[in-house]
Amino acid sequence: MTTFTVATESSHRVLVATLLLERLAVVSSWALAMRGDCFERRGTPIRWSRKTGVSRTIWVFLLANSVAAVIASTANASDPASGAATLNADFPGGNIKVMANVGGTVHAEPDLRGDDPWFYWYFEATSTKPGRVTFVFPEKVAGFKDGAIGLQGPAMSTDQGKSWKWMGTDRVDGSSFFHDFAKANERVRFGVTIPYVEADLAVFVEKHSANAHLTKSVLTKSGNGRDVELLRIGAAGPGVEPMLVTARHHAAETMASFVLEGFLAEAMSDSRSGAEFRKRHVLFAVPLVDKDGVEQGDQGKNRKPHDHNRDYGEKSIYPEIRAIKELDKVHDFRFSLDFHCPTLVMEDHQVMYFVGAREHPRHNFDNVSELALRIKRGLPKSAPAGPLVWLKADEKQVPMNSHFFAYKENAVLAATLEFPFAPPGKATDPASCRAYGRVILEAWVNTPFVGLKEDRGQ
Ligand SMILES: [Zn+2]
Repeated sequence: MTTFTVATESSHRVLVATLLLERLAVVSSWALAMRGDCFERRGTPIRWSRKTGVSRTIWVFLLANSVAAVIASTANASDPASGAATLNADFPGGNIKVMANVGGTVHAEPDLRGDDPWFYWYFEATSTKPGRVTFVFPEKVAGFKDGAIGLQGPAMSTDQGKSWKWMGTDRVDGSSFFHDFAKANERVRFGVTIPYVEADLAVFVEKHSANAHLTKSVLTKSGNGRDVELLRIGAAGPGVEPMLVTARHHAAETMASFVLEGFLAEAMSDSRSGAEFRKRHVLFAVPLVDKDGVEQGDQGKNRKPHDHNRDYGEKSIYPEIRAIKELDKVHDFRFSLDFHCPTLVMEDHQVMYFVGAREHPRHNFDNVSELALRIKRGLPKSAPAGPLVWLKADEKQVPMNSHFFAYKENAVLAATLEFPFAPPGKATDPASCRAYGRVILEAWVNTPFVGLKEDRGQ
């Protein structure tokens, strides 16, 4: 948590007064110059003016001109007036490092907490004085120019994080954005993305608590002692294939969680797709893998010594990943989808896309391509473009989730789905993202996966 307060009224007055004095000095010296040596003889310009009869009309004109010029030159600073705000990030998912908070301008950056540069931030600003407050991030963040603000502007909430919208780019200028506080004590939350923390998952689970197909349990305790949720949809049975979905191996990638919600909601629904899905699969979901990172507001990506999605080697250091491996020992997943979000502002990352191993499992590319095709067909025009299929022919296995499940002998499909944060002109509000998740589930049910039978040796 970081808190700073600075009033800006006085600094604006000083600016106006300084400009006024400068302007008067220029006018006076100009008038004096017109009189040659008068200044030396008469002392002050005021006395000189009286004695030498420069007309009052001219003086009034010059003074009025000065005042008008100063008012005009400070108009930008005074309209609207500079406000002031304190910043706070002491709540689940909060993250901000305030470098300075002076004169209605807050200089801030993502709090990295010892990890490599990334772009996640989320804070609440409380106005101490109405008016405009400008939030300035470093020009370069995580290696990207203006890399701390996404292409639909920051996300904002005026109800303490219950509902969110993207601000748009009208109030964004390069690496900064502003907000005009209407009154003192106005609280507005701003985030680089729409936050999604444990409380949001709890709302989702509660909403579906009466659904007989949904079971909630605890996968394990996180490193910091938090419950890591495990959801199960459907039940095991003959011909029912276990499937695993995960999200937030990288804590900051919040938009993926809304898509996952839609996927889960459809999987447990009474729709044709939901019913068909449960005939074929029992679904296990770990929605918040890096639970501590999510709640603490960590970047998550590139966590040291390696992040959760690079912890699938021989010796996993995170309890969550060890527990996911144990879960696999019990259920032997042949299908796995890991939900992520890519970088924030990179042009190539404004689309949905699949990544993973192209030839592991053997038919992965064909299966993912067929799935992607059906997702694309089902998505509305307002959805981000894609999904594109960027599976790579990897020479060696990387210790990440998608490879861990892809290189299993009997696997059928294992991939990572990257969902963009906020591509320009596309709808990535929570409701839209949930709708996309439902489309993905429907597409899944309609995809004839190759290799399902042959790899079972049938
Ligand atoms: Zn990721």
